[in-house]
Amino acid sequence: MDECIFCRIARSELQAAKVYEDADVVAFLDIRPVSPGHTLVIPKAHYDRFEAMPVEAAAKLFAAVHRLVPGIAAAVGTDAYNLGVNSGPAAGQVVFHVHVHIMPRLPKDGLTLWSGTPYDSDAAREQVAQKIRGAIKT
Ligand code: 5GP
Ligand code: ZN
Repeated sequence: MDECIFCRIARSELQAAKVYEDADVVAFLDIRPVSPGHTLVIPKAHYDRFEAMPVEAAAKLFAAVHRLVPGIAAAVGTDAYNLGVNSGPAAGQVVFHVHVHIMPRLPKDGLTLWSGTPYDSDAAREQVAQKIRGAIKT
């Protein structure tokens, strides 16, 4: 994808603070970090969103995430982090080249996670579970 900003970062046409690169994957600091060390890990190949990736590419992406998290967290003085993949506009995806956010966390860093609301009833929860079981492609 010629104009995709993350493709351009992967090709080194746009500057980024890269922290890791291999044949399939690049990791670089997010330009607007939610916490120091906030890193984006991307496949070099362009896929607009997570489920568009072949499983082999997803496995390589998450293998890199697994390899990188201890060092990224340690470099900013913690062993805590959140991982995130935003897929689709309703989920807050802005850049349509799949990426995994690694967000190191410090005690009292002021970031809050979303809070949950219980289902109205056990039956309502089971109804959703049933729909999901039916929709999952195995
Ligand atoms: P999304 O909401 O799509 O999951 O997140 C996109 C992320 O990419 C945002 O956190 C944003 O700060 C980051 N970002 C957008 N453009 C650039 C850029 O040109 N360089 C870097 N390093 N990060 C970017
Ligand atoms: Zn791209």
